[in-house]
Amino acid sequence: MDKILRINMSAEGGPEIKTEPLGDYAGLGGRAMTSGVVAKEVPPSCHPLSEDNKLVIAPGMLSGSVAAMSGRISVGCKSPLTGGIKESNSGGQPSQMLGRLGYAAIILEGKPKKKALYKVFINKDGATIQEDNSLCMLGNYDTVDKMKAEYGDKVHCISIGPAGEMKMAAASIAFTDMEQRPTRHAGRGGVGAVMGAKGVKVIVIDDAGCAARTPADPDKFKAANKEFVAGLRKHPVTGEGLPAYGTNVLTNVINEAGGYPTRNFSTGQFEGASKISGETQAELENARGGEGSATHGCHRGCVIRCSGTFYDKNGNFLSKQVEYETMWSHGGNCGIDDLDALAQIDRLDDDFGLDTIEMGATIGVAMEAGVAEFGDAQAAINLVKEVGQGTPLGRILGSGAAVTGKAYGIERVPVVKGQAMPAYDPRAVQGQGVTYATTTMGADHTAGYAVTANILGVGGTVDPLKPEGQVELSRNLQVATAAIDSTGMCVFIAFAILDQPETFQALLDLTGAFLGQDMTADSVTALGQQVLSQEREFNAKAGFTKEDDRLPDYFKTEKLAPHDVTFAVSDEELDQVFNF
Ligand code: SF4
Repeated sequence: MDKILRINMSAEGGPEIKTEPLGDYAGLGGRAMTSGVVAKEVPPSCHPLSEDNKLVIAPGMLSGSVAAMSGRISVGCKSPLTGGIKESNSGGQPSQMLGRLGYAAIILEGKPKKKALYKVFINKDGATIQEDNSLCMLGNYDTVDKMKAEYGDKVHCISIGPAGEMKMAAASIAFTDMEQRPTRHAGRGGVGAVMGAKGVKVIVIDDAGCAARTPADPDKFKAANKEFVAGLRKHPVTGEGLPAYGTNVLTNVINEAGGYPTRNFSTGQFEGASKISGETQAELENARGGEGSATHGCHRGCVIRCSGTFYDKNGNFLSKQVEYETMWSHGGNCGIDDLDALAQIDRLDDDFGLDTIEMGATIGVAMEAGVAEFGDAQAAINLVKEVGQGTPLGRILGSGAAVTGKAYGIERVPVVKGQAMPAYDPRAVQGQGVTYATTTMGADHTAGYAVTANILGVGGTVDPLKPEGQVELSRNLQVATAAIDSTGMCVFIAFAILDQPETFQALLDLTGAFLGQDMTADSVTALGQQVLSQEREFNAKAGFTKEDDRLPDYFKTEKLAPHDVTFAVSDEELDQVFNF
């Protein structure tokens, strides 16, 4: 990957495409690239939808190679949801394809002079951009179908739905999966709204004629990749749990632990959890035929294979196998236990281009406000449709949980830095609470997934209900995650590398052999710390202080059943997370 594709949407006479050398960004990938570009080129005080903001799309350092699990792609910008720096990453095919085409990043900058929508096409001969207003307000599914009809059935897409076009703060960017469906999303932080503000509806990618990127030391790379894959296959989470049930394997686990946020974070266990668990979902999928509950990768080279397909009652494709976070946000968090309704909502979110976590949390807040009853699946479906149609109520909901809470005068709004919390109550999984409070991203589970040691016994054990040890746990995970997010590796490799030293060593060897440099645990830590420091600095310049690194007060005063706990990590301890 030796070049950057820069598209200036403000250029006189229409958008202007330039291919440029990597310059200062040489050697960067994924989150290190997106946060590096945003920190250097975006004024921290700018309006996120203004021409000063930039949208950076970057494959990981190893993307485009045959390294297992290396196909994650990062999207970065100043977030319309949090007002701080954002990196949101996704699976899907585009990362591997952009890597093969040699692009380390696509940077969209400026803003079109006129109201118009554009499509970008990239192949081995270069990139072009064209106005195409026939795409206006199309869902992601129709957009992809249209692009396949136009550019051939081998292309993959990066697109926004109506929510992105309407510049909603909950808007996502969709990436097509192995089946060319727009089911994988850079969901968090409103990145889709920034793409909408740039006037770009879709980026179409064709990597025909491009070979996989070659490692600096092919023999060492091959041996390390084999060892790495063997390590992933032998770990119980990456080798058994995730392949058998997908991420929704967590529903029963987190519910039993009493950390499953239910009905807008009012209790830690959901009586309907077993009806929407991974196990029940797999049973239903098997009963409906097709490939049943067989899982597959969301991109070439995935060996964990946590992704799947959901068919409706008539055996027709409805959506991807619903992920844990989505099943929770629209499910237990809204008191809904109907698998078919939840899969329908998942499809609507994907098609409109909405972050499922933000939307589920927002509907939970709306239900607390009395907009609909908890447990009313049809009402939840109708609310998501309002968002997709951009009705006045839909515009409020599409702005996320914090805005919805304000609009309805609700105090219990589960957000940090304006972003909704994911599927682990911070009172019952206190390490996760530290991550929610302090990460540069706003409440985010993947930024430092303390569920590992708090609940799953992976990488050691730390009592989830007590404050002791949580700051160190979250700090170490946040540093490691920032590095993993830069490589293009799926974060689910963390289970195996935290527990199995030989698998961690294989990852270091794999990365080192590809890049042609020595990789050690210290170099991974240094990379992670550098990324986090850059992000913290951006946020400080954007106006964030330590007071923003806090959970909403009610998590400290309102006890959570069944453990009757409050969040007990002190503010002073939270302020120590980035002391490295
Ligand atoms: S483990 Fe799941 S999320 Fe990760 S790359 Fe594979 S299918 Fe995608």
